[in-house]
Amino acid sequence: MAERSHDNTADRRVDVVIAGGGIAGLATAVALAGKGLSLALIEAKEPAALPTVDAGETDPRAFDARVSALTGRSIKFLDRLGAWPAITAARSCAYRHMTVWDAEGTGRIEFDASEVGAPSLGTIVENSLVTGALLERAQDQAGLQIRAPAVVAELERQESCTTVVLESGERLGCDLLVAADGALSPTRERLGMRTREWDYGHRAIVSTVRFERSHERTAWQRFLSTGPLALLPLQGADERLCSIVWSIEEDCADELLGLDEQGFCDALTTASEAALGAAVACAPRYAFPLRQRHAVDYVLPGIALVADAAHTIHPLAGQGINLGLADVEVLADEVARAVERGLNPGRLDVLRRYQRRRKADNLAMMAAMDGFKRLFAQDALPVRWLRNQGLRSVNAISPLKRRLIRQTMGVA
Ligand SMILES: Cc1cc2nc3c(=O)[nH]c(=O)nc-3n(C[C@H](O)[C@H](O)[C@H](O)COP(=O)(O)OP(=O)(O)OC[C@H]3O[C@@H](n4cnc5c(N)ncnc54)[C@H](O)[C@@H]3O)c2cc1C
Repeated sequence: MAERSHDNTADRRVDVVIAGGGIAGLATAVALAGKGLSLALIEAKEPAALPTVDAGETDPRAFDARVSALTGRSIKFLDRLGAWPAITAARSCAYRHMTVWDAEGTGRIEFDASEVGAPSLGTIVENSLVTGALLERAQDQAGLQIRAPAVVAELERQESCTTVVLESGERLGCDLLVAADGALSPTRERLGMRTREWDYGHRAIVSTVRFERSHERTAWQRFLSTGPLALLPLQGADERLCSIVWSIEEDCADELLGLDEQGFCDALTTASEAALGAAVACAPRYAFPLRQRHAVDYVLPGIALVADAAHTIHPLAGQGINLGLADVEVLADEVARAVERGLNPGRLDVLRRYQRRRKADNLAMMAAMDGFKRLFAQDALPVRWLRNQGLRSVNAISPLKRRLIRQTMGVA
């Protein structure tokens, strides 16, 4: 029988409350379900069911502007949660090849899945398909209540229990509160959990674009001095649709967002060096400020931060939610072990094991991405020369290249 705390001021008591029902929150709820715990997931927005999509779509406007490049590790985890079959049955694009090149020179690096004996380097999926599929799985779970739309408005901490107060006035007592409430995590802020952060001075413009030529199931990334531009292949009738993530300095971002569709397509054709021919049609554009954040502590007694609530990273290597899903997998594993041993899942020693297993990995990836971003922002001639030499050398050295490939696939 697990240790349990008591809070006489709550209207209801559950073992675990999950604040936030994005990809990380929903994955946490499904991963913890069936482990003998009572769970409540609180999400501020109306829950969105798995949309019906056309795998042979040609209109860029029919795609979610937010996509993720999922690694093999994330896909395996989503499969274990029972969500992956519905995602692939809807729409996804596994890519076998990646081409990275420097706008200032001739440096170029090509990665191919065959170099590491894998069928693909990763898979591009629309975020709405991932949340829709996870929501379907969450709705099937006994012992999991989903409150959406519902907002966590306040937190009250007692010695061994947290009371989550909803905007409706309802009070939920719990042993463990998992904060999956995103980059600006109100939970983290309310609890005064410190972060180290800095602004990149960049915004990421995202959209779906149709090009003249096929993307050839390749992820394309060009490093410009103003920031990296990624063309990510999407499933569609003619393989000419890409999701773009264009990270760019603030003032240039305003200019690009102010252009009409044709003007933006022209700018994109130039910035991509017409690698896929001209950009010919473009869905609405959205912009996200880019800031690197890392929570100093992921845990307090009875509290655990996961995914963007714990860390945000530059999207240039598409690692954000991959790191977030790895957090969720490890946290669920530690909580399940504690429950099996009859321990309270909010115990600090249980949560510290989660933090130990995840923090070093997250830090290493964040440092690598930050280094990349700074290296490619340098205009100085010697740095440009070294950078181009570096890309060419890495391209020529197979073991180093294989290590890089495995790292970005999340299997290093
Ligand atoms: C341009 C861009 C491109 C990216 N590309 C990639 C990629 O290719 N690969 C990759 O791995 N990652 C990528 N990322 C990162 C990835 O999108 C994020 O890591 C991921 O979406 C974070 O998911 P999350 O569930 O932690 O947070 P969120 O998706 O932000 O979800 C948080 C949820 O909490 C809810 N919430 C907040 N406050 C409350 C409250 N008080 N009460 C109740 N609910 C609340 C919100 O409504 C929201 O639904 C990219 C990011 C950007 C900006």
